[in-house]
Amino acid sequence: MAFYINNKEFESQEEFSKFGRGCATKTPSPIEILRVDEEIAANKSKRRLFSKISIEVRFHHITYGGRGLIAKSQRVKQIELLNLAFSGANLTFKYSESTVHYIDNYGWYYMGHGSAAEREAKSKLGSDSKKCLNFYTGGLVSGLLGWATFPFDLAGDPVLDGVVVLDESLPNGSAAPYNLGMTGVHEVGHWLGLYHTFQGGCSGIGDHVHDTPAHIEANYGEPEIGIPHNACIAGEFAPINNYMNYVDDAWMKELTDAQVSRVKEQIMMYRTGLLNT
Ligand SMILES: [Zn+2]
Repeated sequence: MAFYINNKEFESQEEFSKFGRGCATKTPSPIEILRVDEEIAANKSKRRLFSKISIEVRFHHITYGGRGLIAKSQRVKQIELLNLAFSGANLTFKYSESTVHYIDNYGWYYMGHGSAAEREAKSKLGSDSKKCLNFYTGGLVSGLLGWATFPFDLAGDPVLDGVVVLDESLPNGSAAPYNLGMTGVHEVGHWLGLYHTFQGGCSGIGDHVHDTPAHIEANYGEPEIGIPHNACIAGEFAPINNYMNYVDDAWMKELTDAQVSRVKEQIMMYRTGLLNT
């Protein structure tokens, strides 16, 4: 059955999932992955530990006429979902209505990942990327739901730091079945250093956390519980409810302990500006 999302038609939802579920976050290169692992291992003793962190979110809503307008209730709900998802890492997200930006710009509204429009918009709108989370919304290139930058990209390119999310994917948006706000949570997961649970498939160390069973490819839709789906090892089950898989928003509800540990390590190594707030 044809599947239609953000102005693009796919053969089926499975095809959309193979296309990347609209997540354009880049897969880091093997060299980059190795560098990050080595840096974290080498700096274990120097880390500034933290118990709790409060992260300020700055919303930048790019609009095009009447499109892209986000209601206060949607922001409030999106923040609630982030707090629920990352509570295990002792992170609290907060925002103030006084910092919410609306910008009407056709060229930026339909921006794509890695585009000149993205860099231009972020240069003009983003602020204090070392101390807060810049959260951009817009219509984006058709077929996309969002993307994020990783913690280890911050030092080299602070301007691009943040998450970009399809406006209609926010809670109460129209991008069903991706309109419960989980694209925002998934992209913030990348922003905090998490990889897709299926990264690397069945080879190597996959997503670099030990307690998400490796699986060959992304799961999509609302996969049935108690079935291995495409887990690599007999007796294991693909993490079908994980925020970093590609399932429908209604199915996303878990982070594992090792993902939580990874988030903390990434903050202590690459997002130390958050520790001072
Ligand atoms: Zn992703």
